[in-house]
Amino acid sequence: MQKQSTKIREIFTSIQGEGPYVGQKHIFVRFCKCNLNCAYCDTDFNSQNAKDYNIDDLALNLADNDAEVISFTGGEPLLELDFLKEFLSEYKSKLNKKIYLETNGTLYKNLAQIIDYIDIISMDIKLESATGQKNLFFENEEFLKIAQKKETFIKAVFDENISDVEIEKTTTLAKKYNTLLILQPKMPINKGLDLDNIYNKFYKKYKNIRLIPQVHKYLNLA
Ligand code: SF4
Repeated sequence: MQKQSTKIREIFTSIQGEGPYVGQKHIFVRFCKCNLNCAYCDTDFNSQNAKDYNIDDLALNLADNDAEVISFTGGEPLLELDFLKEFLSEYKSKLNKKIYLETNGTLYKNLAQIIDYIDIISMDIKLESATGQKNLFFENEEFLKIAQKKETFIKAVFDENISDVEIEKTTTLAKKYNTLLILQPKMPINKGLDLDNIYNKFYKKYKNIRLIPQVHKYLNLA
């Protein structure tokens, strides 16, 4: 039977530059497609530079790497459901690495089908004030209901346009599901962004927060 294959934009090893695992060595597997269209997106969706991999090709590519974590990123990795399901069921235990999912936190039905293979979930809440796309709090909550089975943290990219309603809804979700909330300023950081004020608005409503910028950009790493 033919193995599942898909286009992968790039595979590279670097440090994790975001969230609580910042500085840890990860292998990044970047897929090409996304279901959203955020204004600040820096992903190159031109798949001309992407290569086809079947699940065996990918496993071979990852096998000799001494990084202990594979980070599936994008785009939106949960759009690659059939590929990931087959890859993880065949190779997760053979590769003996942790699986870290970087996701926009919307495709909850797809998450439900592979949650058992995932170790860590970095779930974005995409705020309309930063993305220019409508807030998706309903989808985010459905996602969290499933994600809470595993280690999960929420990441919210924000800028000076963040609204009090967005802060209220984001902290309500984080509190309800008892989840660490990472506040990540949109890059480049505007001079007008009052980080102290925004941080304290969040902190008044929820204490389990961390303000962490994209560290790899400061270090000029991939
Ligand atoms: S969800 Fe991520 S990959 Fe998709 S458009 Fe937004 S920033 Fe880009």
